[in-house]
Amino acid sequence: MAVERTSSLARLFAVEPENDWRARAACKGLDPEHFFSSDDDAMGKHERAVREAAAKAVCVKCDVRRECLSYAIAAGERYGIWGGMNAQERRALARNRSSEKIATEAVS
Ligand code: SF4
Repeated sequence: MAVERTSSLARLFAVEPENDWRARAACKGLDPEHFFSSDDDAMGKHERAVREAAAKAVCVKCDVRRECLSYAIAAGERYGIWGGMNAQERRALARNRSSEKIATEAVS
């Protein structure tokens, strides 16, 4: 399970074509553990909140946050921080709305 979470980000960048939005990701090259902790299940609530806040601080400055969030919602990403949101926040946004509209509203 932990390997799956970590490899999700690696897989995203592994299929990166030239000029794709992923090439402009602020998190590119950073340790995926900041965004997909393998210890989430064992991690305390405070520790998890600190890790997520650090990841979200990167996302806030990211030029492709809207694209990332839209992708994560459309792909049904169940783990990690995408577009500055954790899975619970994405699920709350996704109810009854399109991923593109959600991402545009959330990042605007
Ligand atoms: S919004 Fe966050 S997770 Fe998405 S590409 Fe940018 S820095 Fe990475």
